[in-house]
Amino acid sequence: MNGHCPECGAPLEGKTECREYLNEMIKWDFEDFTGVGKIHHLTVLSYNLQHPNLYSSKGLQNAIESLTEYMQNPMDYTAHGTRDREKLASDIRDWKITGTAEDHGAYATKPEWKMLASDVVAGGLVHYVENVKKWSQSVLEVLQE
Ligand SMILES: [Zn+2]
Repeated sequence: MNGHCPECGAPLEGKTECREYLNEMIKWDFEDFTGVGKIHHLTVLSYNLQHPNLYSSKGLQNAIESLTEYMQNPMDYTAHGTRDREKLASDIRDWKITGTAEDHGAYATKPEWKMLASDVVAGGLVHYVENVKKWSQSVLEVLQE
């Protein structure tokens, strides 16, 4: 199927939905969890920020804060992932992360993304880690504009 992702605009060549790009990256993460998998949390965050409907409005806000903190201290992705998991553990959180029909994240104006999940997948596993870093950096830059 051709066409583009209605949310982020990624070309869907040979795919039915954008989520398949994320699934490919997640597969890489889990095949090499102590290697490229260290970047997993950042991959999911970048993907979700380009698909804000996945979040509740508060979840989206939280994700933006989380990515901003990452970029200020990019040395330890694993620690960030752990901290976010603890912070977001459902027993201490009284709001939903996941978007619903009534409450989902959205941007005031549709962002013009410079890099997409499809670009990262196209770069292949060899460039995966550096591309995810570039991707997340570009997501943050666009959101801060
Ligand atoms: Zn998409």
